[in-house]
Amino acid sequence: MNEMNITKSTFMEYLRCKRYPALNKIYKRKDTDDLEKERYYDLISSLDNFEIDDDQIMSFDTEHLDVMMPYFSKIEVLLANKVSSLFKGETRYGIKYGEQKLFLRDYLNFNLSCFVDIYNKSEHTNIIEVKATTSRKYLDLGFSIDGVKQSIFYKDDDNILHLKEKLDPDLLTNKKYMVQRNKLKDRFHSVGVYVYDLLFQRFVIEEDIKDAKYYLGIVNSEYVFDGTYIEDEPIYDTSIAILIDLTDLTKELLPVMEDEIKEVIKRITEDDETKVKLGNYCQLKKMRQCIFKDICYSHVPLKNSLLEFLDKHHGFKTSEGEKYDYFELLNDGYLTMESVPHNWLTRKNNQIQRDCALTHKEYFDIAKIRSAVGILKYPIYHLDFESFPCPLPRYRGEKAYAQSLFQFSIHIEREPGVCDKEKDHYEFLAYDHSDNREQLVKELCECIKDDGGSVMVYNESFEKTRIKELAKIFPEYSEQLLKINERLYDLLHVVKTNSKLFTSLGYDDERSKTINYYHENLHGSFSIKKVLPIFSNLTYKGMVVGNGMEAVYAYARYKQYDETSLKVTREALTKYCQQDTWAMVEILKELRKI
Ligand code: SF4
Repeated sequence: MNEMNITKSTFMEYLRCKRYPALNKIYKRKDTDDLEKERYYDLISSLDNFEIDDDQIMSFDTEHLDVMMPYFSKIEVLLANKVSSLFKGETRYGIKYGEQKLFLRDYLNFNLSCFVDIYNKSEHTNIIEVKATTSRKYLDLGFSIDGVKQSIFYKDDDNILHLKEKLDPDLLTNKKYMVQRNKLKDRFHSVGVYVYDLLFQRFVIEEDIKDAKYYLGIVNSEYVFDGTYIEDEPIYDTSIAILIDLTDLTKELLPVMEDEIKEVIKRITEDDETKVKLGNYCQLKKMRQCIFKDICYSHVPLKNSLLEFLDKHHGFKTSEGEKYDYFELLNDGYLTMESVPHNWLTRKNNQIQRDCALTHKEYFDIAKIRSAVGILKYPIYHLDFESFPCPLPRYRGEKAYAQSLFQFSIHIEREPGVCDKEKDHYEFLAYDHSDNREQLVKELCECIKDDGGSVMVYNESFEKTRIKELAKIFPEYSEQLLKINERLYDLLHVVKTNSKLFTSLGYDDERSKTINYYHENLHGSFSIKKVLPIFSNLTYKGMVVGNGMEAVYAYARYKQYDETSLKVTREALTKYCQQDTWAMVEILKELRKI
């Protein structure tokens, strides 16, 4: 009798390290052959378009599934329709796990199993692994020939992406091409992880069907929705779905997969819980962070640890010039900032962090902070947006995962320190899921007067990009919106730094790129949620909506609420967004005192 069922998600988890299967057994975590778990795994692997705070990583649960699943299911349907019209024949898929075609393979006394998202039997068998991600990350795998940048993929007449080596086999000897291509073979890379999922399926199916073709089915990043709705449903062109042909690449990787499956089986059989070296496979601070992180990292201090060094991915260099990455140091027992010799820190920012850890004192570059605050123009418009990164476009002019704005909050600070939390607060909140963007733009432009005052945001790239997108979609407001963009002032640049800003203010390159402020309570992060408690007593704890993801859930669930719950939700959203802009007022108030 076979010992155990190994699904795709079991395989991917157990492949992390040899300790994982044993810990999984000890902690009696539900095994991953559970269908809901398998579904969750697929969802998690499609979430790289979300911006997530460090402390939210492990909080993705059924709530997220509930909110996003309708869109994910729709993507499967769109892809199934595309496959049907393209390949003809018989197409089988299911928006619930268990409805899809199941393949099993008996291997070394273990059951390998997989459900195929879309199975098509026509001239060939076509196997499609659907991912709610976009083609952007694949098209962006670029290299250059004679100075001309190009993707390693090309699109055929059926809108299917293929590796360019199919047209030009000489590319397999082109180093730059191969560097990008190798990312597809890296299970820790955002493009490789999906290839691995497909590869596992191929390994299971290969024994039954030798001539199948293997594709990833994803959303076309170039598709722009024209806004057509029929009976409340968006109508998409078939070009919204796109296939990537990975038949040859997965064939090439089959021997690797076989070795790895053997390795996983060995780990399950050995059942060895002893500690292993920490490594990239723990996927720290990523959506796929290992669930046993707290156990394996329990010896790493929660404050001022080596993991809190800024830019630690660049590594550390000894006085003899030997380079170490942070996992090497961790595994050699360098757990705290203090334990890393000062002269191994080649970056000034890391030296500052280490000094703060040693002295438990804050670091300030007073002159830089003062000069940045000194260029502010009043009134200051403290601005924050909330958005819904919907996997499928909902409104005219949107693409997949457009950060569709549904709310803004503005606090107007008329003179330094003159701002009332309630009276000087302005906001817009979409009442329902219909296209409220024009109203949002109109109210934004009315609120932010053409008076030259600074428009303060925290981490400007998000707001800047959203405003640019709106300017394109609503040309009648374009001039006003782009003028607002020119007035954006990033508070993060004052707290952290920004080379361009401080060079323009007359500081040399080294000082411009050196942080302006550090406190050990930042834990190596300058997110507003980390910065705020240092400068203010304000807290998000206990709020009904207390972070960006909860705001997304609250908005996305509008249709599920009755009138009373909707009212409560809207009030919670208002409070949350108001808190975000008030936080900037508070932080600036304290920075002015420096
Ligand atoms: S935290 Fe890292 S070392 Fe520990 S079980 Fe997970 S992957 Fe392995």
